[in-house]
Amino acid sequence: MTSFDDLIAYQRDTEALNQISGRLGWDQETMMPRGAAEQRGEEMAAIEAVLHARRTDPRIGDWLAAAEAPDAAGARMIDLIRRGYDRNRATPARLASELARTTSVAQGVWAEARARDDVAHFLPALERVVALTREKGAALAAAGFGGGDPYDALLDDYESGATAETLAALFARMRPRLVALSEAIEGAANPPVPLKGQFPAATQMALAEELGTAFGYDWRRGRLDLAVHPFSSGSGNDVRVTTRVDETDPFMCFYAAIHEVGHATYEQSVDQAWLLTPLGTGVSMGVHESQSRIYENQLGRGRAFTGWLHRRMADRFGATGGLSAEAFYRTVNRVERGYIRTEADEVHYNLHVMMRFDLERQIFSGDLGPADLEAAWNARFAQDFGMSVDRPANGLLQDVHWSVGLFGYFPTYTLGNLYAGCLNLAMRADLPDLDTHLAAGDARPATAWLAEKVQRHGALYPPAEVIERACGFAPDEGPILDYLETKFRAIYGL
Ligand code: ZN
Repeated sequence: MTSFDDLIAYQRDTEALNQISGRLGWDQETMMPRGAAEQRGEEMAAIEAVLHARRTDPRIGDWLAAAEAPDAAGARMIDLIRRGYDRNRATPARLASELARTTSVAQGVWAEARARDDVAHFLPALERVVALTREKGAALAAAGFGGGDPYDALLDDYESGATAETLAALFARMRPRLVALSEAIEGAANPPVPLKGQFPAATQMALAEELGTAFGYDWRRGRLDLAVHPFSSGSGNDVRVTTRVDETDPFMCFYAAIHEVGHATYEQSVDQAWLLTPLGTGVSMGVHESQSRIYENQLGRGRAFTGWLHRRMADRFGATGGLSAEAFYRTVNRVERGYIRTEADEVHYNLHVMMRFDLERQIFSGDLGPADLEAAWNARFAQDFGMSVDRPANGLLQDVHWSVGLFGYFPTYTLGNLYAGCLNLAMRADLPDLDTHLAAGDARPATAWLAEKVQRHGALYPPAEVIERACGFAPDEGPILDYLETKFRAIYGL
């Protein structure tokens, strides 16, 4: 055995344990009896401790020093392992365990606060999480991550290579066109109507399964369950998806399912040779979100695919609210300003992200204290969306991210949309008859294209590079903005 072999074998066991930890998390959100919560907390903490000890084991340093990569993929594995090792070691053990304990409590406090619309209940927990996360950012920056900038050092974990400065410039270029489109839509005559009717839960789930099949999700290595907040989980040959059901709004169920199938298909399609290695998973949050969003929006909400969905809903439910196929397409794509990011239409989604990005940078720099956060949120929301936040659950308390210390995560959602715009442009050029397949309920040619160009590579290439290789051009905001303007001007007759 060479040092490289030892390193990869060790890494493989660590990754297997990591998958087990992820499966415990999946179980907690889907199957676990309520009375098991406390014991599960202990079980998760125990496996986290094992993982942290393994990830900071000094033998990794010895193997890294001696390892010689057999090829380019091996060199990339070494780079990724070194990066993870250095990051884990830069965070003192005391800080890592305090963060784990504090965020697990803070998440529970956040959920209570949201249920009670009680910001004051959440603030002390948020203060502790912010203080510890800032400490972590500073420790990582001191070790050279993020070019020495604490926020960038955190961001680097979710989207390697991105910086707050380039993202701020990108968002500044995107905003005027998004705002102009939103305002034009606001004034349009004859807007689409909302869907009306009652859609039984069991039938929604059956159709959600059909949607997974339509997109090429491999059921032999996956499954679909219900969760309060939909997510996907796992890598390699066990990648599960979840969705949620509201009997008056079946689109919630269908598009959450398609979105998660996008994440899951990415994981399922990674080259089997990379299984349980550092390359055996999606490369970044932004690239991951590009897969979920292109499935959900550019494919799933396109005219061709909604034509098929319209027929399937008529077959399954015996009704589609009395809408024609064209009216149904417009209804699926109805634009409405709203409070909630996760429920936002394609036009407004990125404006939610930009607002959180600006606020979290202010929190992180210390310019904005948690105590003043609700007022800052509400003022900014009124300015960007022209509406007053009616209650904290629809404002500051809507997202879990800050309670668990995910600072630097939000901007990857918009990067995902940007990448999806680029990929859609390149894919449509390569597959001129894609809409014919989509109109027949078959999105597998799109999955095959994405699997070949992006998904099979896993983490082999850095985020922006894998997109550039797939598209043949460096990713920028042009394609997503052109797509949004063309699509929604046509829908709204602008
Ligand atoms: Zn997602």
